[in-house]
Amino acid sequence: MFFCPKCSSLMKPKSEKGKKFLACSCGYTDKKSTDNVVKEVVKKKRDTFDVVTEDDETLPTTEVECTKCKHNQAYWWTKQTRASDEPETKFLKCTKCKHTWRDAS
Ligand SMILES: [Zn+2]
Ligand SMILES: [Zn+2]
Repeated sequence: MFFCPKCSSLMKPKSEKGKKFLACSCGYTDKKSTDNVVKEVVKKKRDTFDVVTEDDETLPTTEVECTKCKHNQAYWWTKQTRASDEPETKFLKCTKCKHTWRDAS
């Protein structure tokens, strides 16, 4: 992980005018960061179980077995987590135990 030298927050990859670099929410940017560093950050971000906490009530539900408690209904939503030419990832959240998981299919 790469941390901001100014405020120690986690830096995020950003792109501007086609150039990729690391930026912090405090405004600090590391424009000298190489493409390899940015790629590494993006890869690490993908590896983390990056689940958005959507407002449950607004989400549609589907009949699916919870991988944890075996309950048969879950909320679902999709999120573009990878390159735009790849399909969206489907997330499922058990309506009973709130366990969240990625749809493997
Ligand atoms: Zn900062
Ligand atoms: Zn469950």
